[in-house]
Amino acid sequence: MAAENDFVKTIAKKSVDFSAWYVDVVRKAELADYSPMKGMMVIRPYGYEIWELMRDQLDRMFKESGHRNAYFPLFIPESFLQKEAEHVEGFAPEVAWVTMGGGEVLEERLAVRPTSEAIICSMYAKWVKSWRDLPLLYNQWANVVRWEKVTRLFLRTTEFLWQEGHTVHATAEEAEEETLRMLATYRRLAEEYLAIPVVTGRKSDSEKFAGAVRTYAIEMLMPDGKALQAGTSHNLGQNFAKAFGIRYESKEQKLEYAWQTSWGSTTRLVGALVMAHGDDSGLILPPRVAPIQAVIVPISAGNWRETVLPQAQRIFDELKAAGLRVHLDDRDTFTPGWKYADWELRGVPVRIEIGPKDIDKKQAVLVSRIDRKKSFVPWEKLAGELPRLLEKIQGDLYAKALAFRDASTHDARSYKELQEAMAGSRGFIRCGWCGGADCEARVKADTAATIRVILDRPEPGFGPDDAGRHGTCSVCGKEAPHTVLFAKSY
Ligand SMILES: [Zn+2]
Repeated sequence: MAAENDFVKTIAKKSVDFSAWYVDVVRKAELADYSPMKGMMVIRPYGYEIWELMRDQLDRMFKESGHRNAYFPLFIPESFLQKEAEHVEGFAPEVAWVTMGGGEVLEERLAVRPTSEAIICSMYAKWVKSWRDLPLLYNQWANVVRWEKVTRLFLRTTEFLWQEGHTVHATAEEAEEETLRMLATYRRLAEEYLAIPVVTGRKSDSEKFAGAVRTYAIEMLMPDGKALQAGTSHNLGQNFAKAFGIRYESKEQKLEYAWQTSWGSTTRLVGALVMAHGDDSGLILPPRVAPIQAVIVPISAGNWRETVLPQAQRIFDELKAAGLRVHLDDRDTFTPGWKYADWELRGVPVRIEIGPKDIDKKQAVLVSRIDRKKSFVPWEKLAGELPRLLEKIQGDLYAKALAFRDASTHDARSYKELQEAMAGSRGFIRCGWCGGADCEARVKADTAATIRVILDRPEPGFGPDDAGRHGTCSVCGKEAPHTVLFAKSY
């Protein structure tokens, strides 16, 4: 019993110290650890397995919409980065440089990729010749390096894993369509698999990707009232095509600059998952991205190895054959109670208990990670009942996160209301915005909140309504063509 108590005590309480809780859960559930290099993390197998499940799902969706994977070099010559002026200016402070190789000083220093537009566009300039080559729909799974001063496991680290899509199109309309299609793909991953609701919209000029015409993002609201940008999709217009000379011969045999997009999502999603759903006992993983969906814990009493364990093994085999991700915890060095706490910390959605009494009744006990609610299920019904319970948990987690998001979204019709909301429980502050950079900067200076998105559709009362009536900017009071969400962000 002492071991059990110690176990739970070692995690900070989510409601008391959110940030200490987050680090405790990430490290004690063995998702990741600090590395000897400041600002860089080690992703441990359990954390990597979660990433693999997200990655595989995204990869399937990319391929369904016609994208293909490729791989480009890690190093980018400085002269390539400098071709697009806004791009190099935006990334310069974060770039790590290689100045020596093979014991000699390099003629031109090489950037460790912070993002790959420069190297990929240099190749596209060679490959794209004719309208017949378009659209060109490539994606890369890779690591990138952005030198960060303040870092947090998964959420902001100097090196991280991601995917970056880079596409080329014949028209501006097709590029915009692609930008929005990939934004919708990120939304689907977040909502249907991670069980985290998102808001989508465009970024203001001060928050857009360096070199893009327009940046769209999915934004999540975390339990501490801060927003997390969880995926971005950029319409690059012809900016990079002009800088790198990506031109194609049109059907009318005219030489035209191509239109491009790029879009990315990262291992930060693992951090989002931890924050969004966990509780004081640890992680809670949505079943669709849980490396272990159900853990079978045989009750180790008496001659359990001869009686309980063989039946637990049969249940394991049957559930595994049914395509479920299950694990049998047959360790005899720990008590069942200790094991329960251990698997709860790791966020396994369902625990299946089986003890001597259950053997007599030919049943097992399913326990939900969300509320520890028990259901007693006959052996022959387990393979049917478990998937149903997993789907219920998936849906309940989403509903809970959505209720929190909605309850934490506040309207501000004046600057006073905006400041009060940011000083209080934070969350998303919905208000009208005139579009002025001054008003945006003033909010940031006074409250540290930034515009997370300009909403896809203006909200009546804030932006223009169906009758063409405008709301007002909650900062300056002028007419507001936009409804925006302000929040502090990660
Ligand atoms: Zn204004």
